[in-house]
This record gives sequence, C-alpha cells and structure tokens, in this order.
Amino acid sequence: MRYRYYFCDKCESELVDFLNKNNISYKVSGEDSFLPLVIFNLWSTTENLNYYFEELQKMNVNSPIMIAEFSASELSNAKLLVMTPKKQCIDILNDDAYEYTCKWTNSSGEIISKHEEQKELFVIKKEPSSNSQTAFWAESTGFSEIFTDYRVYELANSNSLTGIDFKNVILKNRDFSKHIYQMSSKNKLNNQCIVFGYGEKRQVCEICGKEQYFIDNAYQLHLDFDKIQTHSDLYVTERIFGEGIAYPLYIISQRFYQLLKKHKLVGGVTFSPIVEANNPTETNQRTAL
Ligand SMILES: [Zn+2]
Repeated sequence: MRYRYYFCDKCESELVDFLNKNNISYKVSGEDSFLPLVIFNLWSTTENLNYYFEELQKMNVNSPIMIAEFSASELSNAKLLVMTPKKQCIDILNDDAYEYTCKWTNSSGEIISKHEEQKELFVIKKEPSSNSQTAFWAESTGFSEIFTDYRVYELANSNSLTGIDFKNVILKNRDFSKHIYQMSSKNKLNNQCIVFGYGEKRQVCEICGKEQYFIDNAYQLHLDFDKIQTHSDLYVTERIFGEGIAYPLYIISQRFYQLLKKHKLVGGVTFSPIVEANNPTETNQRTAL
C-alpha cells in the first residue's frame, strides 16, 4: 500500500519553477481562466518526500488530499475488501422511501434527519446509459446504497454467492428495472467487529448520541476477523460512516472480488483491502503529515 498525495493549488510561478526543477510532473487546469490551478501528485514512495513537503510548506501550498493505493497482489491477497462505486448516476425520485429515527430543525431553520432505514423500494428517474460501469451511487443517498449492473446480479446467482440480497429498482413507469439492482445484505457486521483508531473522526448525534465516523480516501477498515460469526460473500457494516448522511461500508469476499475481476466487472468501482487487526504486523498505521 502506498499513499498518493494529491495537490491542487493556485498556479504561482514559484511553485511551477519548483516542480520543473525537481522533475515533478503536473498539469495546469483552467489556463485561460482568472484562477488557473496546478495539479500534481507525490507518493509515499517518492524519494526525498520529506524535503518536498518542507519546501511546499514554505510556499504555503494547500495540504494534499491523501489517497490509499493498493497493488494487484494486495487486492488479491485480502480475505475481505470494501467495495465503493465511483460514479453517481442514479436519481432517486422517492426520498420518502426512508424513515428516520432522529429529525430536528437546526438554528438556521434547516431540517436535519439522521439514521435512515429503507422502508420501500427506490424509484429512479432513469437507468444509467453506460454499460462499462459496474456499480453506482445516488446523489440523494450518497454511499448509503449501492446499485449494481444486472451482470453482477447474474454473476452472483450463477455462482451461488451467499449473503447477497438484490432488491428491485422501480422505473418511472412502475416497471422493475432489468438493468439495475440495489445490492444489500442481511449480514450486518456490528461495531464490535471494527477496530477503530485508524484515522476516523468521531462525531456524536446531537439528539440520540449515536456515533458516526468520518473517513477519507486514505482510510482502511480494520476488522477483528475472530468476531465475524458467519461466512458470507457480502457484509454491510452499520450506517456509521461519513459526514451528513451516514453510510455503511459494503464488504465483499475475495471470491466475489475474483469473480468480478474474471468477468471484467470492476469498472467504476474501487476496492480497499481490509486489514486484520489482530495481527499487528499487517496493520498500516497512518503516517501523519
Ligand atoms: Zn440521532
């Protein structure tokens, strides 16, 4: 695993000179606009990384976004992986499909609702047009729900994958979509299976005290595998991750991952290997910048 540090800042000549001098490749976005931006990456494996960080800090360059990147063998050796769709291209029309346990009006008169539970099937505006993507998220539900292409549904059925529930998605004309399914699981991993302390920022609900954890692109889920009672090809955590709408993480087995790969169904999805937290040699403690 390595970290990618994604930088995006005002295109100042001092910074561009520094990047040129050190052979760091970059691109300029909005060159003709009033605020051109310079975009570049460094990696935790980059030589002289600390020197670069110091110099960039002296130039007051914005802090980078940190993203964990995994090698093919790391992905193929993990027992379990978190699966996250990259693309948002589903519009849900019935937001009332959810019921909330906490709802209040904040000081600016905004209604805040939290801890949703799905009560009805989702109705969507239209099916995604691209068929190179495997899984999708929706604007109004964020990562809370995961929608998959029908080929994932067929793959799971023909290989007798366990623990996966595919729910129908309803189109505007009230027919069930033949292209899109909502993927979920009754195999809930409770919070006791999760080993916290690997970069989550904890928040507490103002009303009920329920905990929520903000995670970023560098986060890797750590699980105590001994506490997982069942064997399944899909698990979901409780809805405890994220700022705003809390979402669960969708966890797939290595077997499911291999099948997706074999059938070229990994487009538009990111995978993150889960770390077995019982074994300290396998943990990846995050390096602070
Ligand atoms: Zn609450």
